[in-house]
Amino acid sequence: MKKILNYINGQFCEPSSKKYLDNINPSRGEVYSLVPQSTSEDVTSAIDAAAKAFPLWSALTADVRADYLRKIAAEIRVNLNDLARAESIDNGKPITVSKTVDIPRSARNFEFFADAVTQLHGESFRSDQQHLNTVEYSPLGVVSCISPWNLPLYLFTWKIAPALAAGNTVVAKPSELTPMTAFMLSEICHRVGLPAGVLNIVHGLGPEVGPKMTTDPRVKAISFTGSTATGRAIAQNAAQSFKKVSLEMGGKNANVIFADAPWEKALATTVRSSFANQGQICLCGSRIFVEKSIYEKFKAALVEKVQQMKQGDPLQESTEQGAVVSSAHRDKVLSFIQLAEKSGARRLTGNKALNLAAELQKGFFIPPTLLEGLNSEHEVNQEEIFGPVATLIPFESEEDVLRMVNSTRYGLAASVWTQNLTRAHRIAQKIDAGIVWINTWMYRDLRTPFGGMKESGMGREGGIDALKFFSEVKNICLSTEENI
Ligand code: NAD
Repeated sequence: MKKILNYINGQFCEPSSKKYLDNINPSRGEVYSLVPQSTSEDVTSAIDAAAKAFPLWSALTADVRADYLRKIAAEIRVNLNDLARAESIDNGKPITVSKTVDIPRSARNFEFFADAVTQLHGESFRSDQQHLNTVEYSPLGVVSCISPWNLPLYLFTWKIAPALAAGNTVVAKPSELTPMTAFMLSEICHRVGLPAGVLNIVHGLGPEVGPKMTTDPRVKAISFTGSTATGRAIAQNAAQSFKKVSLEMGGKNANVIFADAPWEKALATTVRSSFANQGQICLCGSRIFVEKSIYEKFKAALVEKVQQMKQGDPLQESTEQGAVVSSAHRDKVLSFIQLAEKSGARRLTGNKALNLAAELQKGFFIPPTLLEGLNSEHEVNQEEIFGPVATLIPFESEEDVLRMVNSTRYGLAASVWTQNLTRAHRIAQKIDAGIVWINTWMYRDLRTPFGGMKESGMGREGGIDALKFFSEVKNICLSTEENI
C-alpha cells in the first residue's frame, strides 16, 4: 500500500511516531494509502529546517524566488492529469472538476504570486523638504499554512505560494483526509530543486500536529482555512505569542433571486453554486432565496435540473456529482437532512435510492438534496452543512430578504440575481459578506481581496493583501537636513 511521507528539510521522512493513519478513497469506502501520524516532534524538525533555510531564501532576489515558483507551476501543469486523478480519488470530486478547476488553479497560484512579487513596489513619501519617509516590506521568517480537504491542492498552494514569494519559509499541513496531492507537491518541489527547508510538509491529525504549528515562538504568522471552530482554537493559540493570523472559515452563503433575474443563467448557475463539488465549496450558496412571484416556477425548473445531475464514479468524465469526503462527513450531512424532515421540511430532490455501480456501494454518496418549508431561523438555515444540501426560501421584499440573508453568524459570500443594477448595488452594499457576486458566481480575479466577515473570516487573502500579510512593514524616516 502506498505510504505518504513527510517532507522535511528537503528529505522524505517517516513520522517520528512510526504510526500511519488510513487514507480512504471516499467513492469506494476503502483504505488505499497511508498517511503519517506526525507529532509535535516532526513539527519541531520542520520548524528547525525552515528557520535554517530562512536566511538563504529571504536573501534571494524576488526574481530568483519567482523562478522557483514558476518551475513548480510548470511541473504541476505537466502532471495535471496525474494530479487531477489523485485529487478525485482522495476527495471524491468529479475528475472534470479536478482537471478544470483544482489543478489548473494550483499552478495559477504559483504563477500569479511569482508575477505579483516581481511587480510589488515600495512606497516613499517626501514629507517636507527635510524628510523622506520610505516603507519597506520584508519577509517575516517561518510561517505556518494549514488547509482543509474540500479544494486540497488549490487551497494549500493558495497559501504556500504567496508565503514563499514574499521570502518566508513554510511549514505546511494539508488535511489528513486529503493528503495525496500535497505529497505529490513535495515530490515536485524536490524535482525542481527547491532549496532544502524552504517548504516543509507535515502530515497528520489537526489536534496532534496543529498546536505546535500555531504556538512555537519561531512561527511568525499562520494562514488557516477550515472550520470556524478550528479557526477559533488557532486564534487563541496564536494570541499567546501575538502571531499574525489570517483565518478563512465557514459560511452559510445566500443566493438571492429576484423576479427579474436573467432566468436561464440564474437557474443554471444556481445548480452549480448549490452543488458543485457536492456542495463542499466554502462559496456554495446553500440558502436559495427566491422572490415569491416566481418561487413556484423557479422551484419546478430547479428541481428538474437537479434531478438530471449524474452521480457516480468520480473518475468518469460524465460524472457531475461524486462522493462526499468521509463517512463522518456523510453522517453529519445526513443528520441535517433528517433534522430538516423532522421539523417539517419537504425534500424536493434526493428522495430516490441511489443507483450506483457495485464498486461504489461502500462509497460516501449523498444525492443532491433540495429542501423547502423551513424558516430562515431554523438550525438547518443557520448552521453550515457543507454538503449537497440547499434550502429554498421565498421572500416578499428587499428588506425581508436582507434580514434573512444577514441573520446567520457567517458572512463569506452571496450572489444576487436581478437585472435592476441599482437594486443590485444597493443590496450588495447591505449584505454582510466579504464577496458579493451580481448575476454570476465564483468568478475569481486573483488580484481581489478574498475573505469573510463575522465568523467566516479574519483578514483577506489574494493579490497584494496576501503578500502584505506575509510581510513585515517598516517605515524608515530619513532626515535630509544638512549639518546634523
Ligand atoms: P477543519 O477545521 O476540521 O480542518 C482544517 C485544517 O485544520 C485541517 O488541516 C486540520 O487537520 C487542521 N486542524 C484541525 N484542528 C487543528 C488544530 N487544533 N490546530 C491546527 N490545525 C488544526 O476544517 P475541514 O473540515 O478540513 O474543512 C471544512 C471547513 O473549511 C468548512 O467549514 C468550510 O467552510 C471551510 N472552508 C473555508 C474556506 C474559506 O475560504 N473561507 C475555504 C474552504 C473551506
